Amino acid sequence: MAFLMKIRSFSSQKKTLYSLLQEFVKDKRTVDGLSKISSLMNRGKRNSIIVPKGKRLCERCQQLYQLELDANGDPKPLDPGNLCTFHPGKLEKHNFYLYYKCCSERKDARPGCTTHEYHVSEDPLFDDKSKYVSTADGNESNRAVFAVDCEMCITKNGHECTRVSIVNEDRVVVYDALVKPDTKILDYVTQFSGITRDLLAKGPTKSLKEVQEDLSRFIKRDTILIGHSIDNDLKALKLHHDQLVDTAIVFPHENKNRRNSLRWLADKKLERKIQNNGSGLGHDSAEDAKTCMELMLYKVGL
Ligand SMILES: [Zn+2]
Ligand SMILES: [Zn+2]
Repeated sequence: MAFLMKIRSFSSQKKTLYSLLQEFVKDKRTVDGLSKISSLMNRGKRNSIIVPKGKRLCERCQQLYQLELDANGDPKPLDPGNLCTFHPGKLEKHNFYLYYKCCSERKDARPGCTTHEYHVSEDPLFDDKSKYVSTADGNESNRAVFAVDCEMCITKNGHECTRVSIVNEDRVVVYDALVKPDTKILDYVTQFSGITRDLLAKGPTKSLKEVQEDLSRFIKRDTILIGHSIDNDLKALKLHHDQLVDTAIVFPHENKNRRNSLRWLADKKLERKIQNNGSGLGHDSAEDAKTCMELMLYKVGL
């Protein structure tokens, strides 16, 4: 995945898209607020578990556990007899019953169809907003529009960025980089991220800091960034930005406490099948970013 940079000069379409998007632009606080409501509703009861000090709550199996580190500071793998057991797929309703997408088993049939040697939880200290890079620090303007999507892997810190793709208003991928987290990857979550150990080992990879420096060259304070649940992408990139268009907000779910998936929106609005490559290699952040751009071009009628 080479580093591609082609920033188009101003054109009439660019100006039109930029101005047509104004009615959908939200600042970060608004996007965070809206996304918090839906994630609280989605998680429901899970949030009522109180996590004692020194413990963590695994987001996969809902077990309380203590993170034990080895001499290198990496988490120790769990005992083979006591692995994290969970369902990686979401619940889907068929004929009034809820089934897991991963194994087609009924909800509550058994604790999980998949095991893993590490639990997964966010380290609240890792998401230190004071260490974010802010696009508001510069005064430069470019009135550009980009769509962004990140793929994540699992580390002891929680979800960390392993790939970032950025698409311009011509649906051209202008930036695509593999990102190597500073901490050991515990799970590549290949079925969702499309990232494998080999892919990352082959590289080339960048550090998150290098990615932030690259992005600051073309994402200016007035650049509009489009994304699906874009708060997650900004969190993964540790980036503060205030000109945001979130396709999960622009195309709301009929149940206001839920969010449409990008896959569903691509199918319904663009008549396109995405995240459907059959190879088991999960999402493709370039394709997802392109889909976000196309959804907004569709929305404004371009
Ligand atoms: Zn399952
Ligand atoms: Zn677990």
